[in-house]
Amino acid sequence: TYIVNDACISCKYTDCVEVCPVDCFYEGENMLVIHPDECIDCGVCEPECPADAIRPDTEPDAEKWVEFNRKYSEQW
Ligand code: SF4
Repeated sequence: TYIVNDACISCKYTDCVEVCPVDCFYEGENMLVIHPDECIDCGVCEPECPADAIRPDTEPDAEKWVEFNRKYSEQW
């Protein structure tokens, strides 16, 4: 899965949302999150992000972000 991290905060672009084939982005007050169970790992959103906030879950600090993204995608 891919996740959104805090670099997304206050970014006004939603290019990632537009390219996602499965619509798994959820929008809160000041950032977006990806539902980790809905993401099909296609990777097309990553290069669209001007803030470099969309990262694969294979990165070292990804686990906390997966939980964060799951929590808020279910809440929003
Ligand atoms: Fe959507 Fe693909 Fe990005 Fe996952 S990797 S959030 S499926 S565009």
